[in-house]
Amino acid sequence: MGDMKGLASPRRKQRDPGRIPFYTIIFACVISLLVSWFVVFEMNARTESEVREAAYRELQQTSALFADQISNSINSIDATLRMGSYLLSERSSHLDKLIEKKIISLEPLVMLTFVGPDGRVIETNEGPDPNGADLSGLEEVRAHLDNNVDGLFIGQPMLSPTQSWVFHMSRKVTGADGATRGVLIASINPYYFACFWDELLKGDRIAALDPAVSLFGFDGVIRTGSHHLEQYLTSLHPQQAIMDATSSGLTGRFQHQHAGGLRESHFTKTMDKPLIAVASYSSRAIGVRVAQQQREAYLIGVLISSIILATSCILLFAMNTSRINEKRASAAEVRLASALDVIKDSFAIYDSEGRLCAFNRAFAASFNQRGDASDLTTINTYLATGSPASDEPGSGVVGRVRTRRPVSGNHTYSPDRQNELNLGDGRWLRVESSQTPIGETVVYGADISESRRREAALLLHTRQIEAQAQKMKELAELADRAAKVKSSFLAAMSHELRTPLNAINGFAQVLGKSAMAEEPRHIATLINQSCRHLLDIVDDILDFTRLEADRVTLHPSRIVLRKLFEELIETASILTKDKPVKARFDIAPDVPTHIVADLRRLKQVLLNLVSNAAKFTQSGEVRLIAVAAGEMIRFEVSDTGEGIDPSVGTSIFEPFEQGASSGRLRTSGTGLGLAITRRLVNLMGGRIGYESHLGRGTTFHVEIPLIAGRAQDEAPGASGADAPLPPLRILIAEDAPSSRLLLRMVLAKQGHKVDDFENGKTALDALLKNEYDLAILDVQMPVMDGTEAAETLRASRHPSADLPLIALTAQVLDDEVERIRATGFDLVLGKPFMEEDLVKGIRKVLKLSTKPAQPQLRAAVSLHGQRAPELVHDKNA
Ligand code: ADP
Repeated sequence: MGDMKGLASPRRKQRDPGRIPFYTIIFACVISLLVSWFVVFEMNARTESEVREAAYRELQQTSALFADQISNSINSIDATLRMGSYLLSERSSHLDKLIEKKIISLEPLVMLTFVGPDGRVIETNEGPDPNGADLSGLEEVRAHLDNNVDGLFIGQPMLSPTQSWVFHMSRKVTGADGATRGVLIASINPYYFACFWDELLKGDRIAALDPAVSLFGFDGVIRTGSHHLEQYLTSLHPQQAIMDATSSGLTGRFQHQHAGGLRESHFTKTMDKPLIAVASYSSRAIGVRVAQQQREAYLIGVLISSIILATSCILLFAMNTSRINEKRASAAEVRLASALDVIKDSFAIYDSEGRLCAFNRAFAASFNQRGDASDLTTINTYLATGSPASDEPGSGVVGRVRTRRPVSGNHTYSPDRQNELNLGDGRWLRVESSQTPIGETVVYGADISESRRREAALLLHTRQIEAQAQKMKELAELADRAAKVKSSFLAAMSHELRTPLNAINGFAQVLGKSAMAEEPRHIATLINQSCRHLLDIVDDILDFTRLEADRVTLHPSRIVLRKLFEELIETASILTKDKPVKARFDIAPDVPTHIVADLRRLKQVLLNLVSNAAKFTQSGEVRLIAVAAGEMIRFEVSDTGEGIDPSVGTSIFEPFEQGASSGRLRTSGTGLGLAITRRLVNLMGGRIGYESHLGRGTTFHVEIPLIAGRAQDEAPGASGADAPLPPLRILIAEDAPSSRLLLRMVLAKQGHKVDDFENGKTALDALLKNEYDLAILDVQMPVMDGTEAAETLRASRHPSADLPLIALTAQVLDDEVERIRATGFDLVLGKPFMEEDLVKGIRKVLKLSTKPAQPQLRAAVSLHGQRAPELVHDKNA
């Protein structure tokens, strides 16, 4: 993101203006606290006056109510007094009867007493009292009788003879004649009122203020009241404070001291009676209420403060947390941004509404080459989920996100790979996208420019390689065809050369053995030698060609080394018979008697070295030794000959190299011997080398893996000639007349009866007709070749079907020999052959040898003295 961070983090910028700083919250908190406490103090300052005001209002109402009620009650009692006075004015009647008859009504707790003019009780509400008590001293009696009070008189409370408090209301009873008949007194229990008001003032709200009502006369003496009555009654004297307070006005407030403490009071005077109704609360109780309300205000202040503080703390904590989270988020964003910028590929995130939330530098570079932010943010309009793919050129699928249009004017999607985007400036992106669980789209664009370039180069290269491969294939086919042509040419040449050579060689042998003059016999011997040399050359060329073509396979068998060495030394002796050279061999005691190796090829290797040693040594000795060297067996062929020029080095093993050593004429040979030898040694898994000193001799050494063999598995080696064969009846088939004649001559000379035929057909007919001990068939013949004849015979049910069969062929290639043998021959004999080879072969197929044939070993038939014998196959091998 780096430079583009501003574009990538618009949300963070927007958040900043709305953020409330810490100090604002602290300031608001302090202000709120101050205001709330100011309000609390202000309220408390007003509380006292308000509470007192409220108390006085209540007291005013209560006193008015009390005055009303008292007024009513007194009026009602006064009505009774009036009615009683009226009735008593005319006659002496019975009060009790009047009450009983409900002529006058009497409240409970009220007593009526009628006192005569003498001051003695005449009757009460309970009936006449003949022994009426003298009440002449009573204040009321005196007021009416002495002071001539006519109206209602309300006396002060007093203790009755029964020790209960009463106060009296009285009226004078005047007869119709105007004479005073007496005084009617209503005795009222002051508690009559107290009970009612006590009940009334018990209410919860005002009970705590110790409310009380009292009724005073204008004389300042209590008449009745609520529960405080008792205290007034016990000290019954005028209350000066009340008299002072109530002297002016019908209603008003005042404070007065009471036995229970200072009291806040309000009075209301009754309208028509000299009575003052007072309602009061205890001043102390009002103080308590004020204190309580102030306490409540403080509590509310504390509560509000707590709420303000708690709210502030929560706000601060939340803000702090959100800041920490923001810091973390921003650190994470920075981390993500740095990480994303490290990525070389383009990366971007779009929110669920398609707005670009985050992207890295590579993304900006890919899609916003002008560095214009608006260009970047519009990219989301190209990335719309779920919209169907358009056929417009350049539209394509980005992962699961489809694009409606190319990302910009120059950008086009690859037509074959729809998520590969061409940025139009040689760069390519592989665009992938996926949805996150919160509905955001992650877009990832890997720069594949290099891989596109490489791909293109690779494609070109691949095409070139394919073209080259095609060319190579054609060349290989050509080479294969050439090899086949070469092979068949070599086979043909081999056949063509061998066939006449066979005849020349055979006839020369016959001539050499015939009773001729010395000179012609010598000539025959020379012909024979030349022929052998020519065969050597042919064989060398064939061997080398087969080795080059990897067509030589080894056929290991167990061999007796000593026998092989004896034979090789014998050959060396023959070769050096005209020179003062001694040939000998030596086998180290640690070398096993029997070893496993391909006898023919090992013999070929050693014979080549021994022949060279014999050839290049004029005097001294040729020596062949074998020693065990760990897991290898080491053969050394040393001579005391002319040696090899050091400059020749290992080129001596190259084909056609004839290391020209000084002091000797170029010898005969193809220069293939050592080349073949080295290839054979390599084929055996061994190595070859030499040391040489000019004029002093040469030592060639060969090492091959040493595998010890069991005694009974020994190969026959080159055994000597056996006793002559018994006379046999032999069929021969050979198309070449010279060869046929030669074969016939050789066999006839040994005393066998021979029938000869020109082709396989006539030979087969004869075989099915006559009895033979053996048949020798040439392979290549007109009409029917030898293999077909052999197959037919073997397949027939004729008694001669298992007749011993020998094949003659100039085709000495391994696979060809194999093929011939498989058609039913007991032995395959290569052309040209020597007489003794033929005899040995016949002996073998007829099982006439004194030594039984080794079924698993191949018979070796020597072709000539110098060469390794040509491989022959018997059918039991
Ligand atoms: P050729 O068939 O010509 O002998 P070889 O490959 O067998 O071919 O030998 C190649 C050459 O190596 C010979 O021509 C000869 O010069 C040299 N050479 C091989 N063996 C010996 C040896 N024992 N002493 C001296 N020279 C040798």
